[in-house]
Amino acid sequence: MTNSYVVVDDTFRSLIESGAELQKLADGCIWAEGPVWIPNESALVWSDVRSNREWRWTAAGGASVFREPSNHANGHTLDRNGNIITCEHSSNSVTRREADGTYTTLVKEYRGGRFNSPNDVVVKSDGTIWFTDPPYGILSNSEGFKRDSEIGANYVYRLDPESGEVTIAADQFDRPNGLTFSPDESILYIADTGEPRNIRMMDVGDDGSLSNLRFFAAPEPPASDGLRVDQFGNIWTSAGDGVQVFSSEGVLLGRIPVPEKTANCEFGGENGTTLFITASTSLYSIETRVIDARRA
Ligand code: MG
Repeated sequence: MTNSYVVVDDTFRSLIESGAELQKLADGCIWAEGPVWIPNESALVWSDVRSNREWRWTAAGGASVFREPSNHANGHTLDRNGNIITCEHSSNSVTRREADGTYTTLVKEYRGGRFNSPNDVVVKSDGTIWFTDPPYGILSNSEGFKRDSEIGANYVYRLDPESGEVTIAADQFDRPNGLTFSPDESILYIADTGEPRNIRMMDVGDDGSLSNLRFFAAPEPPASDGLRVDQFGNIWTSAGDGVQVFSSEGVLLGRIPVPEKTANCEFGGENGTTLFITASTSLYSIETRVIDARRA
């Protein structure tokens, strides 16, 4: 039996299930993205951005369409109450799915200008919602609707859902995309799918300010699109032809080759140790020995 992973540093053996094999769980997507695990439903929800749908998968029931049209939904996360937070390209908004299945728009513009196309999102333990706004949903009609940017830039934003106040958290990125906090939330990692196509990191102040921008890692082949952090602080990121795992020092520990261009990943499953991988037409999974830092 062949493993579905490559050990680059011996540390990786303690992070991946011995002999773990990549499983294909679903296919039929165009551009699978934005996976989020819903613990109380034992379900994974993800986006097929270009077909304007969201999908849902359970071990018992397999895959089914979750929402269509999805406003070209992309990244998802859960808030502190377990509600799904969604980045929607063609409504230029970040929404919250309420317990009754209705959607509440949390934010859709900054100082009167519509966002470009919110891409990926993470919620801090204080409830603030951090999201990226690259232009992928307005460059053509394939992931949204083509139009000019009203903001004229691609920022990382911080939203306080209590007050509704939205502020620019970072303006130093070309096309900011995936983002995740370190386990203690002292660092925010941001993937840039524009130039220079790497992952950089910033210190997070108690007041929510970001400082000390610096290099973290440059997956090869590029690029990191979506990323997650495990309870030990290792970064699991999409990287072109699969998933790559970096230590908190930026050392490449291992890789999980995937037979399709890979966009994002998410920990979930019954034990929280299954890594779900969205890659072009398909949803895959592989067993690990770690869980998401947010669930540790
Ligand atoms: Mg993305």
